[in-house]
Amino acid sequence: MNRETIVDALRDQGNQDALFAEADRVRRDQVGDTAQLRGVVHFSNYCRCNDLYCGLLKDNDQCKRFRMSGNDIVNTALAVAEAGLKTVVLQSGEDPHYTRAKVCSIIERILDGADVAITLSLGRRCREDLIAFRDAGAERYLMKHETMNPELYTRMRSGFRLEDRLRNIDELRELGFQVGVGNIVGLPGQTLEDLCDDILFFQEFQPDMINIGPFIPHAQTPLKDEAAGDIELMLRVFALTRIVTGNTHMAAANTVATLDPDNGQYRAMAQGGANVIMPNCNPFLQSRKDKIEYEFQITTHKRYVSVDEAKNVLKRAGRTAGKDKGHSLKMQGEQL
Ligand code: SF4
Repeated sequence: MNRETIVDALRDQGNQDALFAEADRVRRDQVGDTAQLRGVVHFSNYCRCNDLYCGLLKDNDQCKRFRMSGNDIVNTALAVAEAGLKTVVLQSGEDPHYTRAKVCSIIERILDGADVAITLSLGRRCREDLIAFRDAGAERYLMKHETMNPELYTRMRSGFRLEDRLRNIDELRELGFQVGVGNIVGLPGQTLEDLCDDILFFQEFQPDMINIGPFIPHAQTPLKDEAAGDIELMLRVFALTRIVTGNTHMAAANTVATLDPDNGQYRAMAQGGANVIMPNCNPFLQSRKDKIEYEFQITTHKRYVSVDEAKNVLKRAGRTAGKDKGHSLKMQGEQL
């Protein structure tokens, strides 16, 4: 698709039903009715970054921080596998506490105990770390690009540069990871042209996974008084992304459920072409004390979707949960 077609479709709410129908057709043809559940373990909410849109930003001194021990992370991941999920997503803020050796040990212990795919979402790590994580057995890495507008990126991420982010993303692909990227819809100051650039990036890069989410103001950030992203616009971004990427795995993120708890993820699946839900699996922790410590402190407003809730969304959308690891459909036929 070209820029003009995409911007017109983003602007045109009146014709969005036709757009949604086309996205659903592409999803059905290229991905099928099997959907993926990826179990997310949020193991640390410490972060060295100051992203204005995120409640975990370093300068938020009201955020109660936690770190899970290696044993808790491994045991939680094994409980996720025991529950039948075939992918474990290890997610944290950018937290150097988890050294290369610690992360590798966690990956190896999980893979010793369970036949799962491991996705990492740890933010920036040096090349040597990434190689070590890959060699330890992690096959996927999520690194959202957030926005393709370089000025907006630098403003939202307190000085970081988009070109560095894109270099990190390229490096992940070069090292052989299945790569997930993604954007935020509704950032203050973002234009339709900016969103079009995100979609053109998806079209060009053809990621293995995409995570699109709305901007949601957090009470403990400098953007607390800004408006949340518009759900209809966000769904048009989903639909266009499905159309231009064909068989990329697309997640209806927990922030989509936060924006519209009753219908957000269902609509992303049924209208936007999404085929992945990533339920929060911290409740799989064994002790009640740990559940409270790790579950309720991540952010004050974000809604975390449980495995049962995720299954209900799939059922409502007429999908069945995949029984395999749900590897990249773009890499099928290549060695995984
Ligand atoms: S979005 Fe991620 S990297 Fe940015 S502040 Fe939040 S936790 Fe840190």
